[in-house]
Amino acid sequence: MINILHVDYNSFYQKIVEDIISDGKFNYISVKSPNEAFKVLENEGIDLIITGLEFKEKFGKDFIKEINDSKFKDTPIVVLSAKEDIKLKSKLFNMGVIDYIEKNDFVNRLKNYINKFKDMDFAHEKLRNINIAVLDDSRLEIEIIKKIFELNGITNVDYYNDPEKLIKSDKEYSLYLVDYVLPKILGEEVILKLRKKYNYALIIAISSVENQKIISKILSNGADDYITKPFNERIFMARLKSNMRTYLLLQKLKEKNIKLQEMVKIDGLTNLYNHKYIFERIKEEIKRAKRYNDELSIVLLDIDDFKNVNDTYGHQVGDNVLVSISNKLKESIRDIDILGRYGGEEFIIILPETDLKGAYNLAERIRKRIEEMEFKEGFNLTISGGVSGLKNNSCLQLINKADKHLYIAKNKGKNKIIYK
Ligand code: GH3
Ligand code: MG
Ligand code: MG
Repeated sequence: MINILHVDYNSFYQKIVEDIISDGKFNYISVKSPNEAFKVLENEGIDLIITGLEFKEKFGKDFIKEINDSKFKDTPIVVLSAKEDIKLKSKLFNMGVIDYIEKNDFVNRLKNYINKFKDMDFAHEKLRNINIAVLDDSRLEIEIIKKIFELNGITNVDYYNDPEKLIKSDKEYSLYLVDYVLPKILGEEVILKLRKKYNYALIIAISSVENQKIISKILSNGADDYITKPFNERIFMARLKSNMRTYLLLQKLKEKNIKLQEMVKIDGLTNLYNHKYIFERIKEEIKRAKRYNDELSIVLLDIDDFKNVNDTYGHQVGDNVLVSISNKLKESIRDIDILGRYGGEEFIIILPETDLKGAYNLAERIRKRIEEMEFKEGFNLTISGGVSGLKNNSCLQLINKADKHLYIAKNKGKNKIIYK
């Protein structure tokens, strides 16, 4: 839970800010004066202070100075002000205030800010959960980084002073902090090697070298960012969090892309592979079988008189039946077999390393299993099938042959498998 302290003399603004902030993720605490604010700061862990500038007992900027002089100096402060005052604004920014929002358009600005804060908090949370590796040859620097991480509750960190050990380590990290200036090996070489090995890790270079050319070289060699020493705790953490945020967004995008790629292969109703994908797979499997001189067969299955199901029980029941039959087919095949929905109520199974007779036996077994299924509405169904095997056939020949056999099965009274 994120604790937000709002200090404002004006109860009208208190109400508005409370409305913006109260969304379950935040704990909103509101007080009317700097004195009360300090009492709350003393007793609760406050993550963000939002303050107005006008109080009875003192100026807002004096209140902010008091915070800066106290042990609460690291708490971010956002100012809400009724006035547009450039001078005051720049003064407050110099005092470390992270945002100055004018009250006339503050609803949107504050909402924006709060959302960013949510993301950042999430990024911080993530930093606590991922594995982090730090490589630095200087013990002192390592101690400093350790201290910063400890202060921020980040403990899952391994510290290395030997580049070789890190490069050879079997442990994979999500975040690497790599010193650029190392004794025997160039930091950029380490980064390059890590990047090659871990394409998706977050790699950040650290060093006191501030030469533009070197920095651009580090970045073009695969580092995601660059942080200069000596570290300022707040800036260091802010940079890590902002990198983490980008990293998380990229990960989400990657996951979405994988899902999308899967989706274009999959039939929406039955979750089996679709026609287009199956066609590509047959071509690949033929190539593979020929290369290794392996057997390969395919089975085409078509539900008998399926139109009757739709006509009698409706399309929805028809859909459910297609799903049940798909599941039954899935149960009946091996892991290496490839099952797809070839068309409306037609299915196809690619059977690697299986000869014609083997494919026929499987199809027969499936035919019997389907015959034994009883559907919820109390009816039964049968299927017909055609089988063909790879004997120097092309993809089209293989399918045509199976299709021809299926046609014969239908003509001979259905509920049959034909393979020659
Ligand atoms: P046959 O034994 O000759 O195969 O007869 P059939 O009725 O099974 O074959 P036909 O090709 O005449 O009709 C196929 C039916 O399958 C008609 C079509 O509405 C139905 N169908 C195709 N795709 C779907 C679907 O996704 N959902 C439902 N509910 N029905 C479908
Ligand atoms: Mg049919
Ligand atoms: Mg059909």
